[in-house]
Amino acid sequence: MDVSELPLVGGHPALDLVNTLERGTPLPGTQPRDYLSDPPSLLLWAGRAGLTGEAEARTVAEAWERDPGAAAAALEATREVREALYTALRAITPGPDDTAARGAALDRLHSRWVAAAGRSTLVPDPDGAHAVRLVVGIAPASLVPDRAVDAALDLLRAADITRVRRCPTETGGCGWVFLDRSRNGSRRWCRMADCGTQVKSRRLTERRRAVRAGPPQEPADD
Ligand SMILES: [Zn+2]
Repeated sequence: MDVSELPLVGGHPALDLVNTLERGTPLPGTQPRDYLSDPPSLLLWAGRAGLTGEAEARTVAEAWERDPGAAAAALEATREVREALYTALRAITPGPDDTAARGAALDRLHSRWVAAAGRSTLVPDPDGAHAVRLVVGIAPASLVPDRAVDAALDLLRAADITRVRRCPTETGGCGWVFLDRSRNGSRRWCRMADCGTQVKSRRLTERRRAVRAGPPQEPADD
């Protein structure tokens, strides 16, 4: 699977960003897979996640072609936003919370956002419900990380944080995060078709095996 097939299960682009890095427990000696492996992967993902439109993506690609250093910086910045957001969210997901790390992560998000605000513009919005609209990302080379930090702040400031969940690694889930939009707030797995079903069928196999094996045997004396 590559970034063109990566499931977008976060329910919010900022959570989809967090899920571009594997969040479960990697096998010993292996690194968690990063789907944002290079600038083209980042641009492809940004389009799929709805951070950029088609025409914008072309402008970004042109800017990155002219200046590969800017492309590398955009990738680096987006990954920094991703990891800072993940750390900021650790407070509401299971596992130890590190207050100092969370504060540092919020500082990083804030300075990225300050830079992004400098590359935004206010436009009148005569047909919308509000007087003006803030358009973030007027510099093509840094449009993707600017939209990413804008999405991260939107999530942290406006989303119902009691609905942010983590696919439970403790019980076999993958560790991805998602916004539970189910009516009764009972969603446990990022994808029932994958994580939920896999865990259920594994449990069933274990139960069957236990039944076949019978009660635990005492070791025989010799
Ligand atoms: Zn999962």
